[in-house]
Amino acid sequence: MTEPQTYDGGPVTALRRIAFLLERAREDTYKIKAYRAAAAALLAVGEDEVVRRAAAGTLTELDGVGKSTAEVATSAARGEVPARLAQLEAKHAGPLVRGGEVVRAALRGDLHSHSDWSDGGSPIEEMAMTAIELGHDYLVLTDHSPRLTVAHGLTAERLARQLDVVDAVNDHLGGDADGDGFRLLKGIEVDILDDGRLDQTDRMLGRLDVRVASVHSKLAMEAPAMTRRMVAAVANPWTNVLGHCTGRLVTGGRGTRAASSFDARAVFEACVEHDVAVEINARPERRDPPTRLLELARDIGCLFSIDSDAHAPGQLDLQVHGCQRAEAAGIPPDRIVNTWTRDRLLSWAQPV
Ligand SMILES: [Zn+2]
Ligand SMILES: [Zn+2]
Repeated sequence: MTEPQTYDGGPVTALRRIAFLLERAREDTYKIKAYRAAAAALLAVGEDEVVRRAAAGTLTELDGVGKSTAEVATSAARGEVPARLAQLEAKHAGPLVRGGEVVRAALRGDLHSHSDWSDGGSPIEEMAMTAIELGHDYLVLTDHSPRLTVAHGLTAERLARQLDVVDAVNDHLGGDADGDGFRLLKGIEVDILDDGRLDQTDRMLGRLDVRVASVHSKLAMEAPAMTRRMVAAVANPWTNVLGHCTGRLVTGGRGTRAASSFDARAVFEACVEHDVAVEINARPERRDPPTRLLELARDIGCLFSIDSDAHAPGQLDLQVHGCQRAEAAGIPPDRIVNTWTRDRLLSWAQPV
């Protein structure tokens, strides 16, 4: 029998890494939650107690730690690579797509992500920590707006509380508003209402760093009305990014959904006029905009933002799917706003 490989990451790191790899592979979230919950439970009791309990075989007495997560933690506490981790590293750690590496290497951040405050699966801090691990300088937290009740959209009051939490997370992570370190930025994915208005108060929109505006309702609206709706949203001085513009779903567990119809030329010309970036939504089930529209936006001279739209930490790594599409379409990196430094991004995102 061969000796197990040594592992010095510790139990919490091993559990987080397993969750990351499963999320990145877009595996069933139920199974992943167990690893995230166990990591949180072990972090809460502290390293010494974890080592003691691992030796005594009593980890499963802790709330949130089951048999398989205890097995992982026990191996890691002994300094051995957990079998489950080794298996997942072999299966899921490789490149997600062919191509996109050049653009991915140029990215400094991500403008679209969700936490468990709306329909994401993980706490804000976990999203931020994973963004740091992926090498980002910034991550914009963009939970949903009030009208999207199915996704627990944030009222103005909840958003105001979230902004305090973002400040606290930045303090905790050692983020410095003027420094070079990572910073979690304040944002929103604000619903574009039927008439093109945005679903949040001006006061709250004004307190944010970056705003992504997206259509989530009445996607099958007649083209002329949809065009007016989207142009009005793009013309709103608060809008910085037009999220997943067609709303289509091409594959995956949520089924498929046709792209909305609108006058794409008129919408993209409005984006140029109002200095709004067209999002390249990297989620494989969205691939939005479709290639024909992506090339149209490129030819019209739009800015772009390549966003993960992550609902779990590991999904932050799906951004490379969007990079691959941007590279294939020949979009110059300087027209991709998240290749910009944080200062440049922040000054661009402030309304003039
Ligand atoms: Zn959305
Ligand atoms: Zn989103």
